Amino acid sequence: MIPLIRGFKDILPDDTPVWKAIEETAAALFQSFGFKEIRLPIVEKAELFQRSIGENTDIVEKEMYTFSTGKGEMITLRPEATASVVRAYIQQQLYAKDPVQKLYTIGPMFRRERPQKGRYRQFYQINAEVFGIGAPYIDAQLIVMLWNLFERLAIGGLSVQLNSLGCPVCRPAFKQALTDMLEEGTGVLCADCLRRKDKNPMRVLDCKVPACRDVMKDAPSMTDYLCEDCASHFSKVQSALGLQQIPFVLNPRLVRGLDYYTRTAFEIQTDALGAQNAIAGGGRYDGLVKALDGPEQPAIGFAIGLDRLVELVSQAMPQQSLTPDVFIAAIGEELQEKAFEWSCALGLSGVQTEIDFSGKSLKALMKRADRLGAAHVLIAGSQEMAQGSVILRNMKNKEQVPVPIDGMVDHIKQYLKDYQCCKESEKKKKAIPEPVRVIRF
Ligand code: AMP
Repeated sequence: MIPLIRGFKDILPDDTPVWKAIEETAAALFQSFGFKEIRLPIVEKAELFQRSIGENTDIVEKEMYTFSTGKGEMITLRPEATASVVRAYIQQQLYAKDPVQKLYTIGPMFRRERPQKGRYRQFYQINAEVFGIGAPYIDAQLIVMLWNLFERLAIGGLSVQLNSLGCPVCRPAFKQALTDMLEEGTGVLCADCLRRKDKNPMRVLDCKVPACRDVMKDAPSMTDYLCEDCASHFSKVQSALGLQQIPFVLNPRLVRGLDYYTRTAFEIQTDALGAQNAIAGGGRYDGLVKALDGPEQPAIGFAIGLDRLVELVSQAMPQQSLTPDVFIAAIGEELQEKAFEWSCALGLSGVQTEIDFSGKSLKALMKRADRLGAAHVLIAGSQEMAQGSVILRNMKNKEQVPVPIDGMVDHIKQYLKDYQCCKESEKKKKAIPEPVRVIRF
């Protein structure tokens, strides 16, 4: 057997329903906030990521899967989606139609990181990006949307971490203050931070190495260096979050891994996942569209880590796999062709159908139907055929009804519909009545 590559994983059929449920919940919510889906290639020119994410970031320095096409061109498996969305916004001139574009995309990302629980080399993200809106309300709205998504998915133990990373006007003074401070701790910094100290000192802020954390204990905060515009923007984001009752924590250590962020940076963390506790992160990147040769347009976005979200949702949601409505148990070789026709007709009419062409005994077929969790079994033997009907057995209440072969699909559909209605009215009878809500004006 040729096994999987380390850091990659299969998403098995029992797990895909949770993935789909999350993706559909997110898509429905995002659409009601005006987002449209965009689908992008998973490979781009390496230069796109080098220029956008930044040369002195972990991703570009050591985590990208970059290949030569043999013609002097270097291509990269995308480590994140924002750069590609920005590229499409510029290249497809989406801004010409309307500078305001709200886009979301779902798909795999690739980073050559050390694999561990919650950290893979191919992982999935849901990304949402807004172009053309500089107002702080949109920053808050994205966080409201994320918070609501996690509420809809019944995820608890969450916190919103919030920071401002300033802009090209106010950040240089902060960076200088950080570099000056780091000069004093040079003796104890880890090798990575020694490199970062001059090139990208803000990255030292979120280094997890204890010695570096110790040095950074008294590090200055970007929020103390914000220019008037950035300070006002940050304060409006906070009051807008307050208006929507979104709890948040100001975290001056939150810098995010990519160079392109400006002003608002945020992360949603959970206390239920251990070390890899971030399930979504994002921020404003007002300079990126211009830096990638596009028009000057502000932008902001976020990425949700789908793998980690699935883990959280799976903890709360019982595994549900698709089970057949009808399993066709046709006994004997001579009935297989008929059974094949019925299975096609039922499947094409939307009844989830399973069939076993092995011609085994009824006992063996019933066992298989049971194992598959089939709700009903259509039993057909030569005796039934002679009478012009087959038997539909309800596997739950063991009820058996004859179904005429003539018009069989319609009969079965009607039976399933009646059975479903019956089940629902039973459920309703058992359910506690909802309290009446009085809306006052
Ligand atoms: P980032 O693009 O680094 O801001 O990450 C956004 C989100 O993607 C994080 O909050 C994680 O939930 C998820 N994520 C990032 N890297 C990985 C990885 N290697 N494996 C699984 N999830 C990841």
